[in-house]
Amino acid sequence: MMLTARIQINLKALQHNFEKIKKCSPKSKIIAVIKGNAYGHDAVLVAKTLQQADAFAVARIEEAVVLRQAGIERPIVLLEGCFCAKDLLIAAHYQFQPVIHHAGQLADILSASLPTPVKVWLKIDTGMHRIGIMPEQVAHYVTQLSNSANVSGHVGFVSHFYRADELSASTTHEQLACFIQATAPYPGEKSLSNSAGVLYWSDAHFDWVRPGIALYGISPRADSTGIAEGLQPVMTLKSTLISVREHKAGESIGYGGHWIADQDTRIGVIAMGYGDGYPRMAPAGTPVLVNGRKVALAGRVSMDMMTVDLGPESQDQIGDEVTLWGNGLPAEEVARHIGTIAYELVIKITSRVQRQII
Ligand SMILES: *Cc1c(COP(=O)(O)O)cnc(C)c1O
Repeated sequence: MMLTARIQINLKALQHNFEKIKKCSPKSKIIAVIKGNAYGHDAVLVAKTLQQADAFAVARIEEAVVLRQAGIERPIVLLEGCFCAKDLLIAAHYQFQPVIHHAGQLADILSASLPTPVKVWLKIDTGMHRIGIMPEQVAHYVTQLSNSANVSGHVGFVSHFYRADELSASTTHEQLACFIQATAPYPGEKSLSNSAGVLYWSDAHFDWVRPGIALYGISPRADSTGIAEGLQPVMTLKSTLISVREHKAGESIGYGGHWIADQDTRIGVIAMGYGDGYPRMAPAGTPVLVNGRKVALAGRVSMDMMTVDLGPESQDQIGDEVTLWGNGLPAEEVARHIGTIAYELVIKITSRVQRQII
């Protein structure tokens, strides 16, 4: 069979990025964020590879159960906590560490009868206004939780940056000051930094950092690249040319017929489409690497195929290799053309795409 749509997952690059993060925040322990199947990279594989990670974090309890069932024994933080009282029993059973961010979650843990106590993290809203309790509520929550037999150890504290990728945003200083003040009276461990916090805000590292995207070699800044910041892309999305066609000036290509060639040229057809997770919204001109050379997407992306303008002098042939993003073509650059962020590109790869581990 001809190899077509595939992602290559580079475990050396993953290790390299972890070490880079460790160097950036040498005094902090690392919670490797592997939600969303490790941003499309395979959570079990990533967890098994990152033996040095001090803990992992996911968004949903189902993701955490998959990790435990695969034999991952390290602490797992539930970033949005338990969504119902029953889930607390599962969390206790597997020793997950739920975040608590609203009154219902507090009530649930106070009234539960857990077989074993759990470590909990209190989420404080320091300015993002998505989830979290307000700073003035912290004392009440800490008192209640500290007195509960269902809670083990000190209550930890988390908050989340909303503009840490913007290097001159004053809101990050404000969030940092708010977090420091709200948590100062308490002995619990603190965690504030996502990847942007790790890379750009060294004052914000505290006891635990929570990098996600940087682990995968992608910059948290839309206007930068992981490569430019000393990271290496872990995922490379590749496929193959399945047709090369002569194309006359004035002819259109694909659905809608909007793209029209302005000269005689050759069109390459790639076995890659939105059925693989390549965004249908990618406009003409989005870069693609064919035989290591950058060419432009031409016409609409369809479910199983996309077409590129190889140019009139091109020598590319059926079976030649194509890179959609990753090694040689930063996902950040592709994302900019599409009007999204690389986070969304990597996580949307579908199950049809083959996986190769290198
Ligand atoms: C997803 C997430 C992270 C990781 O963010 P990156 O930008 O990918 O580093 C950290 N903390 C929380 C609460 C998250 O939801």
